[in-house]
Amino acid sequence: MNRIIRTALLSLAMVFTINSSLWAWSEHPLLAHQVLSRIPQLASSESIEVRELRSFLFRNEKAIELKLAELEDWSRQNLPNYDPLPEALAFKATGNKEDIVIRFYHAIRINPNVKMRLYLHLLPGEEAEGKPTVLPQELTTLSDVSEMKRTVYLALSEGDMVSPLSVLVSANDEPDYGFDLGLYEDNNTEHGKIYGFGSQPFGNPNLDYGSQAPFHMGFYHEAKIIFKFGAFLKKTYPEYRIQQYKVLSELAFELGEDYWAYRFMGWGMHYLGDMSMPYHTAPLPGTSTLKMLWINIKAMIGLSRSKDNAVQLVSNKHSVLERFQWLELRKAYETNDSLHPMLVALQNPVEMVEYNSQFPVHIAAMGSVDVSKQVNKTLLKWVPKKLIADPKFEASGSAELQELNKSIEEYKGKEGVDQMNLAIAQRFSNYSMHIASYYNAINKN
Ligand SMILES: [Zn+2]
Repeated sequence: MNRIIRTALLSLAMVFTINSSLWAWSEHPLLAHQVLSRIPQLASSESIEVRELRSFLFRNEKAIELKLAELEDWSRQNLPNYDPLPEALAFKATGNKEDIVIRFYHAIRINPNVKMRLYLHLLPGEEAEGKPTVLPQELTTLSDVSEMKRTVYLALSEGDMVSPLSVLVSANDEPDYGFDLGLYEDNNTEHGKIYGFGSQPFGNPNLDYGSQAPFHMGFYHEAKIIFKFGAFLKKTYPEYRIQQYKVLSELAFELGEDYWAYRFMGWGMHYLGDMSMPYHTAPLPGTSTLKMLWINIKAMIGLSRSKDNAVQLVSNKHSVLERFQWLELRKAYETNDSLHPMLVALQNPVEMVEYNSQFPVHIAAMGSVDVSKQVNKTLLKWVPKKLIADPKFEASGSAELQELNKSIEEYKGKEGVDQMNLAIAQRFSNYSMHIASYYNAINKN
C-alpha cells in the first residue's frame, strides 16, 4: 500500500511540470515601490555610489569569506532539508581578481551566466530622458523577454550616484532574470553538476524556466501524509535565498557598501514576496489531500484524465491570477489611479509582525496557504469558465488572457473585476507588511 501511495505522490511531481513555469507576482517593482517609498528613512536617504560586483567583492574579499562561512553553518543547522555547499565551492579570499565573480556565484550557488548589469527599473510613466537604456535581453538569461518589453531599464555605470530606493525597488525583480536556472545535476549545465542540490525535485528539468521553481515556491503546510510519501515537496529553497541575501545585505551595510546592501536586500525581498502568492505556497490550491491522492491513484491504473485536467486547470488559474494582477497594477500606475484597491492595499499593510528566520514559513507562506481555497473560489465565481474550468483550453499565451479584465467584465460585470481586485488586495496588504518587516530587520542597527 505504501508503495502505491508513494508512486501516486511521485506522479504528483508532474503537476508541477506546467504549474512551475510562471513568475509569482509579475513585475515585483510595481508592488515594492508602493511599500518602500513610504519608509521615510529610505525616501530621504542620500544618493549612493554605484559599484560593479567585481569591485565590491575584491575590496571586501576576506569579510565575505567569513560571513559566507557563518551563513553555511547557519543553513546546515536551521534549514531542515538543506543540501550543504560542497567544500570546494566555499568562498575564499585568494586575492585573484580574475575569477572572483565566478567564485562568488559558485559560493552562493546561482546561475553563473547571470548578466548582473548596473541598471535601474523604471516605473510606468517614468522616462529615460535621453539617458542610455538597457535592453531586456541584456538583463536576463531567458530567451523570452516579451513580458519585459513594456519596461524601460536605465543603464548605470560605476561611480554614478543613485537613490537607494531606486536600487532596492529595481533589485526586487532581478531573481526572475535567470538567477536560479539550471542549478540541478539533471539540468545539463556545468554548474548544476557541481552545486550539490541533487536532482530537480519537481518541475520538468528540460524546460528553460521550470528549473527555478523550487527556489521561488515553498510548500510548508501540506498534510503530513503528503510530506511523508512525497519528500520531494520539502526540497524548496526560498528560505535559503531569503536568509542568504539578508546576511549579505547586512554585511554590505557594515562595510559601507550601500549600493550592494540595497541590491542584495531587494533580491531577498523578491523571494519573500513570492511567498504571498497562493499558487507559490500550495501545490493545488482548492484541491483536498484526499482528492490529490485519488486523482493520482486513478492515473496509475491508466485513468490519467483527471490528473491531466487538474494539471491544466491549476496552471490556467495561476496564469489568470498573475495576469490580472499585472494588467490592473500597470493600469493603476499609467492612469495615476491612487484609489485603485491594489495600490491602497500596498500602502496599508496588515499589522506588523517582527521578522525572524521563521517568518517566511510561519507568517508569509502560512497566510498565503490559509487563503488559497478562498482565492480558488473567487476565480471559479468571477472568471469566464473557459479560462479556469476548461481543461482543453491553454490560458497561457491565449488572446483571452491578453484581454483578461475585459473578459471578466463582460462575463459578470464590474463586480467581477472588483472581486478579483479585492482578493489580490488582501494578499498585497500582507505582502506589504512582509517586505517592510524584512527591511526593518536589516536596518535595525
Ligand atoms: Zn520569483
